[in-house]
Amino acid sequence: MKKNSREKKFKKIKKKHIWPSIVGLILVTIVVAVLSVASMALISEYMLFASVEREYASAESLVELWSAVDNSNPKKVDELVKGKVEAYVVRDDKKNIEYSFGDNTCEMDHELMVYTTDKGEILLYKDNKTLGFDSDGTFELQKSIDDFVGFQEGKISIEKNIMNPNAIFRVTPFWISISSGKREFLVKSYVGLSYPAILLLALLAGILCFLTIVIYVALVAGIVRRVIDKNKMVGLFLTDEVTRGYNWMGFVINSGQILKRKKNRRANYAIIDVNFINYRYFCMCHSVAQGEEILQKMSGIMRSMAAKRELVGHFASSNFAILLRYEDLEELTKRLKNLTAKLESVDTEHKFSFHIGIKQINDPKFENDSRKQLIDIEKEYNDASTATTTLDGSDESGIALFDNKLVEEQKWIEIVNANQQKALENEEYKVFYQPKYEPKSGELRGAEALIRWISPEFGFVSPGRIIPIFEKNGFITEIDHYMIRHVAKDQKRWLDMGLPIVPVSVNVSRAHFMEPDLAEQIRDIVDAEGAPHEFIELELTESAFFDDKNAILNTIKKLKSFGFAVSMDDFGSGYSSLNSLKDLPLDVLKLDAEFFRGDVDNDRREIIVSETIKLAKNLSMRTVAEGIEVKEQVEFLAQMGCDMIQGYYFAKPMPVEEYEEKMNL
Ligand code: C2E
Ligand code: MG
Ligand code: MG
Repeated sequence: MKKNSREKKFKKIKKKHIWPSIVGLILVTIVVAVLSVASMALISEYMLFASVEREYASAESLVELWSAVDNSNPKKVDELVKGKVEAYVVRDDKKNIEYSFGDNTCEMDHELMVYTTDKGEILLYKDNKTLGFDSDGTFELQKSIDDFVGFQEGKISIEKNIMNPNAIFRVTPFWISISSGKREFLVKSYVGLSYPAILLLALLAGILCFLTIVIYVALVAGIVRRVIDKNKMVGLFLTDEVTRGYNWMGFVINSGQILKRKKNRRANYAIIDVNFINYRYFCMCHSVAQGEEILQKMSGIMRSMAAKRELVGHFASSNFAILLRYEDLEELTKRLKNLTAKLESVDTEHKFSFHIGIKQINDPKFENDSRKQLIDIEKEYNDASTATTTLDGSDESGIALFDNKLVEEQKWIEIVNANQQKALENEEYKVFYQPKYEPKSGELRGAEALIRWISPEFGFVSPGRIIPIFEKNGFITEIDHYMIRHVAKDQKRWLDMGLPIVPVSVNVSRAHFMEPDLAEQIRDIVDAEGAPHEFIELELTESAFFDDKNAILNTIKKLKSFGFAVSMDDFGSGYSSLNSLKDLPLDVLKLDAEFFRGDVDNDRREIIVSETIKLAKNLSMRTVAEGIEVKEQVEFLAQMGCDMIQGYYFAKPMPVEEYEEKMNL
């Protein structure tokens, strides 16, 4: 998965589920609040209107009573209305009080109109606006009076603070004014909520509260569940199935956060790649499950070694990533050596090996923006792994430090990979010949074909810079064929020219030697060029003899039966060369150049070299001493009976034209 998409996915998971629930909760809160306030206001308003209606009806019946008792006996009316009407006033057309009952001291200066609709509703209005009862005690229902045309008109006076919101049950009185003939009846009335109305309101409020609580509990429970689910998912996303510690994603995210923290910015950090090199073999010999068990134990060891603000993650099957703080490189290496020692003995029955790569994270370059993660953990780890690859080939545990030369090397490997085929097709690889001389007479006895890449783009490239790359990427097989073909072609040409040709040896790589039909391949190439077999020798490096001995023995036997000579290259540079000599019928032994490095006079070396030459002679093998640069060595080797010398003392590897001249001498 690409880095960015991985991080995006993680961020998405982190955000997931929470916001919709929170938004839902807010929306429900708003809706419930609006509904509650609106419904309570509507219901209270309706009840208050009903109350006005009741009061108006009772005032009307008072007026009817007055007419019924013929206006002459008001006291009788008082008796009848006692307990129902608290006070009333009768005024004549000049507003003089004719009769009054109860307390009539209130002011009557606020005129309000009362309309009765044909449906029997009563609407109050003032200044041409219909009025409703608002919660703050003012009247402001915003309907126009025009909506109510055709209503019966009546008139009442209401005290200023009629709707004092604090007065719930019986609010401050107001006066209903009803005209009857020339008289005006003013009846003291009250607007308020009855007990059943209050009970109903309370019940409604209770139901609303209950519903709100139920919805809230459900929503909050949903959010809590989602948070738990999300945390679980985040955990799964960052946890490694095998080790139960952080996986690669967990490592990248958490180490990024550690490095971002202000207090960590000044500390030295390094990213470590730990490669358990025996993992695949272990799984092959045992089982993957047992291998994973070992990985789990290793993860435990690494995690127990990691201090605060350090981190361990499992990168892939046999690789772990560690983020470590360090004071200096010495201390860091010591820590890693201790770790290696513990890891090596994680299983009592096996001794494992580990390749460890270190990438120091220097100069984190945190600019002002602390939120930005400028350290690219993936790149840093990749560098640490590049350092690890420098240990490839060794079966022992080791620690390697990344340095920028590795980047250059990596770039070069990519260049070689990209250009190798084109260079082959364009014949950019040239055969250089290094002559081999008889030490006493100084006569030319043979030559070794050595590759050079003369690139129009990269110039002269020595084999040391390409052969190891070809050996790794498998292109070496093509190269070996190419070299054999060119050498055979040259030999044939020289023969045709009448030149006194000598055997030329060609290097065959270790990887190539394992192919069962290698001898046939070589024979066919040489035959195709029409060159004689006896002038071609195949050089095998000593290390190749550690591979499948039977396969090598077969190939050597076949090559010899085809008439080719076979030599052991770099004899003495490895460990068990002598043992190989016992089994393999080789023609030539090439003494490694290392024998001749260092002090000229070295008795021990002379003993070894002379005894080796004797040994080779007894085994009917010719000897070639490689890398001979000084006269004393030539003299010594001549004395010891060494057959040939290949070294700068006589000649360096040279282009074909130059070699032709040497042959002519
Ligand atoms: P090698 O086969 O052991 O070749 C001998 C190396 O020693 C050559 O290095 C040669 O130039 C160098 N040498 C010879 N005499 C002296 C001397 O007196 N002093 C010093 N310092 N060096 C001397 P070169 O040509 O750089 O090749 C290096 C290695 O690359 C070869 O070691 C061989 O293993 C490999 N190689 C070269 N060409 C080919 C090839 O065509 N095919 C394969 N498979 N490997 C090749
Ligand atoms: Mg060689
Ligand atoms: Mg050699």
